[in-house]
Amino acid sequence: MKKIDEILTENINSIAIVGHVRPDGDCVGSCMGLYNYLKDNYTLDVDVYLDDFAHSLSFMRYSDEINKNTDPSKQYDLVIAVDCSDRNRLGKGNEFFETAKKTACIDHHISNAGYSEVNHIRPNACASGEVLYELFDADKISKETAECLYTAIIHDSGVFQYSSVTQRTMEIAGTLMGKGIDFSNIVAKTFYEKSYHRNQILGRALLESIRLMNGKCIFSVISASNMEFYRVKPKDLDGIVENLRNTEGVEVAIFLYETGAQEYKVSLRSKDIVDVSKVAAYYGGGGHVKAAGCTMHGSVYDVINNLTSHIEQQMLAVGEE
Ligand code: 5GP
Ligand code: MN
Repeated sequence: MKKIDEILTENINSIAIVGHVRPDGDCVGSCMGLYNYLKDNYTLDVDVYLDDFAHSLSFMRYSDEINKNTDPSKQYDLVIAVDCSDRNRLGKGNEFFETAKKTACIDHHISNAGYSEVNHIRPNACASGEVLYELFDADKISKETAECLYTAIIHDSGVFQYSSVTQRTMEIAGTLMGKGIDFSNIVAKTFYEKSYHRNQILGRALLESIRLMNGKCIFSVISASNMEFYRVKPKDLDGIVENLRNTEGVEVAIFLYETGAQEYKVSLRSKDIVDVSKVAAYYGGGGHVKAAGCTMHGSVYDVINNLTSHIEQQMLAVGEE
């Protein structure tokens, strides 16, 4: 794989970093990791654009500089999309992608078809933070950049739990720890600690969850009025689907939240057998083999019926159920 210097070819002086809509810990950590690394080691005009994200992630250095450029006509020499599997999912700053002189994409989604001029996509990496680390010179990673990359990696690996974690992931995490970061605090504050309201909505989703397919599938749905009642936003619903998947006997967990009239954002997680990225892709979404998402229309009944028919087909194909 090429190093970051090979992406930063001649005549590149201005760079925009953009993440995906509803940025999660990997997206924010990776975008800010890249921003910090470029600020530390280069004299370039760099901007970073991100949609609203969890307050706990704003400890990262230069978070106050996010979205600092307010000139919509600014044209960048290079726009780098980070952790974004498809062009339509680019978040704030996506308009700069259209006008950029050069585009690049750094990602780890299996569903990423490579929508930029330069594509660095490693589906086997557990987080975009890991892909970035490999592009950087380890000696030039500051403590602040290490904090960002470590955050990215723990968020997309469930704190080193998922099967996407490799020996290399742990070596990288070890090197980042060696930079003097407060790793224990990062895990506690950004991954596990939740506001009272977030815990309440998690409890509600678990309480009202329903098992299907002899307990192999579980789903829960949060309505727009529920979200209003508990005063939560979509970013506060992160982690609910992983909790559903933790249910004994479950192979696939489905979590829905209402985004409009007869419109739901769907999160899918699987344990061992089902490739949920295929199910999500069928409905215009994407993601990873064991974590994917899409947006679907219709009643909750329709959405669940459609999803479970695809899940059932995959299970039948491998002789399950
Ligand atoms: P989540 O369920 O946490 O929203 O997303 C799980 C994974 O699926 C993430 O890696 C995310 O990028 C991907 N994903 C979620 N929703 C969509 C979608 O609507 N389109 C695509 N292409 N990917 C999605
Ligand atoms: Mn990611």
